[in-house]
Amino acid sequence: MTVSTRTDGIPHAIMDTDYPSSSVDWLTRLIVFDTVSRHSNLALIEDVQSYCEQLGLTVDLTFNDAKNKANLFVTVPAGDNADIVNHGLVLSGHTDVVPVDGQEWTSEPFTATIRGDKLYGRGACDMKGFIACALTLLPKAVQLSNRGQLRRPLHLALSFDEEVGCLGAPLILADLKARGITPDYCIVGEPTNMAMVVAHKGIAVYRCRVHGKSAHSSLTATGVNAISYASRLIGYVDTLAEEISHRDDNDALFDVPYSTLSVGTINGGTATNIVPNLCEFTFDYRNLPHMTQEDILAPIQAKVAELSAQMQARAPETGIELMQEESVPAMTDNESSELQAIIAALTGDSKRHKVAYATEGGQFTNSGIPTIICGPGSIEQAHKADEYVELNEIERCDSFLQRLLESCTTDK
Ligand SMILES: [Zn+2]
Repeated sequence: MTVSTRTDGIPHAIMDTDYPSSSVDWLTRLIVFDTVSRHSNLALIEDVQSYCEQLGLTVDLTFNDAKNKANLFVTVPAGDNADIVNHGLVLSGHTDVVPVDGQEWTSEPFTATIRGDKLYGRGACDMKGFIACALTLLPKAVQLSNRGQLRRPLHLALSFDEEVGCLGAPLILADLKARGITPDYCIVGEPTNMAMVVAHKGIAVYRCRVHGKSAHSSLTATGVNAISYASRLIGYVDTLAEEISHRDDNDALFDVPYSTLSVGTINGGTATNIVPNLCEFTFDYRNLPHMTQEDILAPIQAKVAELSAQMQARAPETGIELMQEESVPAMTDNESSELQAIIAALTGDSKRHKVAYATEGGQFTNSGIPTIICGPGSIEQAHKADEYVELNEIERCDSFLQRLLESCTTDK
């Protein structure tokens, strides 16, 4: 559908629909969609798709295998030529939210409720607040584009399944690559209180399954104790954790200035009088951007091989399996100095922060797109009961995006 422009510059389609025109109203609308990661996000995506289409934009959807979740990517082209879609700036957000199970909420989590100067609801800060601001900006970008005043295209990327391992964003990035679109920059709107986060750690989650051999506990020599071997490997993981906490190249800009390794779960054994034949544990590795996941995996794999050999010398059917369950790359600031300078100039705040939590930003920088994180609300409120965003933060994000858009126009 083509959008003609009134003399006041506002496309018809917007005037003729009841889509919100303010970020608070958009946020209120978005929170109603129960996009907990285990559910479909299609209702939200279709709503945004029809909004974009009424603005005259063409959306690209990429689906999960089950086709019940989608990413949405849409471009406001530079100038009045719809072919000018390459380069430009991506505003990126995930549409899924974490569950509310077992949490005590003061108000209905999937209904936006304003109390005082805060808006409450699941996803208010993580991260439908940013998406609401970006959607509110779109008509203004379309208007500039229609007038031939947009110097670089503006893209919006909305993903699924971020909260369960950043599974959606790689499909967007692969699709962009296939279409030959190479954005210049990306801003991921995770909650940072509108501060500029330039790097974050990566995460790799591992599951380790130690297969021993059962025996009566009075006949230990005939068995291979899975728990004992698991505990040796755990001891080694802890030793490595201690070692990497003292490296010379640690980075004081992170609150925890070193890479961490942490054992999180363990299960094994059936009875005290049985030598256990199985013990399973999980651990995660959170690496500083300049350290790779292989850095830590190599010595652990060597230890696994050493212990497995000892076990197999006693019973050939025993051994240790090590499996990677999840992996999100770190976000590096290696290539983003130009983007950092743009953001610092727009916000008047050049302070650079580095954080321990992972986002899709690592996947964007891994694809060669310089990225920073900057969004409304605080990560402190994310994932909790009574999640909220301060209305003032939404206003700050609106004016930040407005200035960002102005910086993309031909007049500047
Ligand atoms: Zn988030």
